[in-house]
Formats: sequence, structure tokens, C-alpha cells
Amino acid sequence: MSDCIFCKIVAGELPAKVVYENDQLLAFPTIEPKADTHLLVIPKKHTENLNTLTADDADMIAHLMTTLPKIAASAGLTGYRTITNTGAEGGQEVFHMHFHILGGDQLPGF
Ligand code: AMP
Ligand code: ZN
Repeated sequence: MSDCIFCKIVAGELPAKVVYENDQLLAFPTIEPKADTHLLVIPKKHTENLNTLTADDADMIAHLMTTLPKIAASAGLTGYRTITNTGAEGGQEVFHMHFHILGGDQLPGF
């Protein structure tokens, strides 16, 4: 989507300190960290959030979920929290699906 900031990061039109990339995914630190380590993992293909996934996205979401631990490990994390916010009422601000990886210090219980 042309007005999506994460699509612009994928296209190289906005800067990001990419820490992991493959043909399907990109990971980079958030600009507003809520933990010592706070990364965002996004699919390169635009989809708004979990609500807009279709059966065609099954391979992509499986790949994303199985790659999250590798990205966390490459950031030096052994324990971490993953969050995806869905919809405005779920706290979503950027409507390009993304998973937060938070860690690097002891997180409070949830
Ligand atoms: P959410 O509230 O789940 O939609 O999370 C959006 C995340 O994107 C927040 O952590 C923001 O700080 C982060 N964010 C917004 N713009 C950028 C950007 N240009 N580069 C990196 N992170 C961003
Ligand atoms: Zn997008």
C-alpha cells in the first residue's frame, strides 16, 4: 500500500535499522522501545493484521512464527515476549501486520 509506512520501509523509501531480512520478512527496532530490546517483525507482503489473513497467507504466517525465535536468538534473547495488536481497540497504530519482540530485561507478568 502506497501510504503504509511499513511498506515504505520494505521498499527502502523509509529508513530502518534492519536486523533480519529474507524474501518474506523484515525485522527492525521500533522507534519507541518499550523494553531493552524491542524489535518489530513484518511480512514484506502487506496485510493489515490477523483479521485480514486468508488461507493464502498460511505459509507466510507459519514462516513468520517459526522465524520469530531465530530473530530473537540473533538479538541475544533467550526469553522474550511476542505481541501483535489487532485493530484500533487492540492498540494497533500501524496497520501493516507486525509482531513485537520484547526482551533483554525481566519483563513484568502479563
Ligand atoms: P502497534 O501499536 O502495534 O501498531 O505498533 C506500531 C509500532 O511501530 C510501534 O512500536 C511504533 O513505535 C513503531 N513505529 C512507527 N513508525 C515506525 C518507524 N518509522 N520505524 C520503526 N518503528 C516504527
Ligand atoms: Zn504495508
